[in-house]
Amino acid sequence: MSAAPIPLSRPAVDDELKQAVLAAMDSRQWILGPECRAFESDLAKYLGVNHAVLTNSGTAALWMGLEALGVKAGDEILVPSHTAFPTIEAICFAEATPVFVDVDAWYGMDAADAAAKVTPRTVGVVPVHIYGQPVDVTAVRDLTTRFGLWTLEDCCQAHGAAWGGRRVGSFGRAAAFSFYPSKNVTVMGDGGVLVTDDGEIAARTRRLRDHGRLNKDVHAEVGFNLRFNELQAAVGRVGLRRLDAMNDRRRALAARYHHTLAGLPLALPGERPHAHHVYHLFVVRTDRRGALAAWLKDRGIQTGIHYPVPGHRQPAVESLGAPALPRTERLVDEILTLPLSPGHTEEEIDRVAAAVRAFFSR
Ligand SMILES: *Cc1c(COP(=O)(O)O)cnc(C)c1O
Repeated sequence: MSAAPIPLSRPAVDDELKQAVLAAMDSRQWILGPECRAFESDLAKYLGVNHAVLTNSGTAALWMGLEALGVKAGDEILVPSHTAFPTIEAICFAEATPVFVDVDAWYGMDAADAAAKVTPRTVGVVPVHIYGQPVDVTAVRDLTTRFGLWTLEDCCQAHGAAWGGRRVGSFGRAAAFSFYPSKNVTVMGDGGVLVTDDGEIAARTRRLRDHGRLNKDVHAEVGFNLRFNELQAAVGRVGLRRLDAMNDRRRALAARYHHTLAGLPLALPGERPHAHHVYHLFVVRTDRRGALAAWLKDRGIQTGIHYPVPGHRQPAVESLGAPALPRTERLVDEILTLPLSPGHTEEEIDRVAAAVRAFFSR
């Protein structure tokens, strides 16, 4: 008899979440009502920023952030190639040009490579706190100060992550978060938020998400329908209250992997100095990635690759003719994501680790 399969991630569904959804039905103001306003103020308070503007995805939050920063056609934006495609897509959708940057030793954006790629057309940088680990905030700040660039943080994988004791999302002019089901805070569907200290960016984002409206009848500009809804905001508020405890749980399970996988010919995720890593994903690295993934699959263990095709090699942006990024190109052939979420048990983590050990001791 084989053991139960182990999924990559197991989001929570329980009575408290179900009750929150049922209660949110009663207001009959299902779009941008009291739950959305409360979730926005909870988020701003948690992150230590002045404004939070909910929207229907992390991608929409990134796009509106770029628009609110005044991005226009021909502007160049520095962005890591090693990210989820939506980071790149938002830049293209805003009609700017992504300039792809290679990875550093922690798989984040390499600030030195970014500096080498600045041109007179460069306006800003979109660093990504990939896998839940903050980028080198000091290096990014030095870069933006030196060249007079803005920063839009992609925090879609880093809810609650911190640098030097301060949460990510408050380091740039604005930041985007996603509430997609696997993320550290989720809303039982798609969702996202743009956060900022800047009142003008917040006001512009509120306008863009609701048809460019100034008021009920007057449209100041062409926006779109990128609004959020009450039932999902109610779910998100419960998730945000649990976030620190869920991140502690992620960190405890990651520490268990570190302990049980030590000594194998397998690179484990490192923690950058000053960084509080929240392990959105637990990514290991080996040149036998394909064989290890197949071995685990045969034992009912789901793995993932985040991400096999780097941004600069995506067919969608082929016309940019982006130059090679040697470290990123090697990395994407060697990374493997192991199961980890607050919903996993210690027993499951130990089963995964035992299967990985068995693979390397054949
Ligand atoms: C998930 C994710 C996004 C996109 O968020 P959606 O809510 O799925 O639109 C953007 N950037 C990164 C790094 C992500 O992980």
